[in-house]
Amino acid sequence: MRVVVCGGGIGGLALAQGLVRRGLEVVVLERDEDLAQTGGYKLHLAPAPLRALADLLPADQMGELLDRAVRTTGFTLAVRDHRARLLVRAREDEQGQSVDVDRITLRRALAAGLGDRLRLGQQCARYTESGNGAHVELASGERVVGDVVVIAEGAGSRLARQLAGARTCSSTGLVGVAGRTLVSDLPQRAQQIVREDPLLAFGPGGVGLFASWHAPGAGSGALTPPMVIWGMLTVASRPPAGASEDLARAAAGLLARARWAPGLVDLPRHAAPGTVASFPLLAADPGRIAPWVPRRVTAMGDAAHAMPPTGGQGAATAILDAHQHTTVLAETAEGQRELGPALQAAAHEMRTRSATAVRESLAPLRWIKASAHPAGTAATTLAMPAAAGIAALTRSLRGAVR
Ligand SMILES: Cc1cc2nc3c(=O)[nH]c(=O)nc-3n(C[C@H](O)[C@H](O)[C@H](O)COP(=O)(O)OP(=O)(O)OC[C@H]3O[C@@H](n4cnc5c(N)ncnc54)[C@H](O)[C@@H]3O)c2cc1C
Repeated sequence: MRVVVCGGGIGGLALAQGLVRRGLEVVVLERDEDLAQTGGYKLHLAPAPLRALADLLPADQMGELLDRAVRTTGFTLAVRDHRARLLVRAREDEQGQSVDVDRITLRRALAAGLGDRLRLGQQCARYTESGNGAHVELASGERVVGDVVVIAEGAGSRLARQLAGARTCSSTGLVGVAGRTLVSDLPQRAQQIVREDPLLAFGPGGVGLFASWHAPGAGSGALTPPMVIWGMLTVASRPPAGASEDLARAAAGLLARARWAPGLVDLPRHAAPGTVASFPLLAADPGRIAPWVPRRVTAMGDAAHAMPPTGGQGAATAILDAHQHTTVLAETAEGQRELGPALQAAAHEMRTRSATAVRESLAPLRWIKASAHPAGTAATTLAMPAAAGIAALTRSLRGAVR
């Protein structure tokens, strides 16, 4: 069986690794020319996606990945107001090993060994399905033929839209500006606030800021020096445009004008050149995930169930999808199952699993939106220590763009 995977992000590459390991033929079509292109924000992988990865990757590659990640068994979150005053400190323990890893490190580890099965610089334009096969048409006009097509193009995927007959996600009404600031460039006042625990701060005017210290151990082969990864979320219909430096200046200006603590304003103000990006926060409708009945073409990961980074679960969910699709495709290739029903069963499980993750990821956005109004700011601040969604918030602290 030959599987064509559209999109070589976290889910698509994890799927390709699993399929190769199970002896299937696979080609991954990825529009990026370079694996580092979509940035290096930090991802938190809990025990379940980590176990799934261990099943998908050859043992030596998994070992190398773990060496380059920061191992954790849970984490603490400091929720602060915009003046950096502590509102609540929450601790979430996880059952088993989990890691923090930056996206570029993870993506490279997932691409290792795929060789020419991974084709970079290939933009998928549409797919066509027939009774005995399917093919993907590239923007260049080339056709790539397979028995099955798995769309793993991430949020806003055009091919997933073709499959669903409608957009698979929409704007949440919030946008993010996120980046990295080297610890060596940060004034002491900022280091003091961020060093202790990852933080999530809320301020008036519908602004949230998360920040976390990321320092893979020396000699671990990590690709990144110690840094603070931060992201500012704000209510807006479209993300601000501009180069990294313009975005950092705009974010610092917005926080300064709203009288945020200088140590928090320092994060965007001293951002490392070229590391700041803006993005819309998109989400699927949790009640309408994967509305298709797959026969030879399906979609997984953010292409099927986009969720904002405020749940810190998107990559983990994409890896679980990849694991599940590897199993059903391998069983089909071995003649144990029929393709259509197997893909349909996978889509059904994916709907259930991802709907929870999407809902959890949306919860913190409601708090930020509420604080867009003066009365909402007070209410949000008061409600914070009792907030039941603190676990999702804690996970959200694990990422930021580039
Ligand atoms: C700031 C931030 C922080 C985050 N933090 C976390 C976290 O802590 N934990 C977590 O689990 N998740 C986190 N996420 C989410 C996570 O990164 C995504 O959910 C995850 O990468 C989704 O995997 P995917 O394979 O579905 O899509 P992606 O990894 O986005 O991959 C999609 C790929 O498809 C390619 N592509 C798109 N269109 C085409 C096309 N037409 N042709 C060819 N290729 C195409 C893209 O270039 C991309 O490489 C965070 C996201 C952000 C923005």
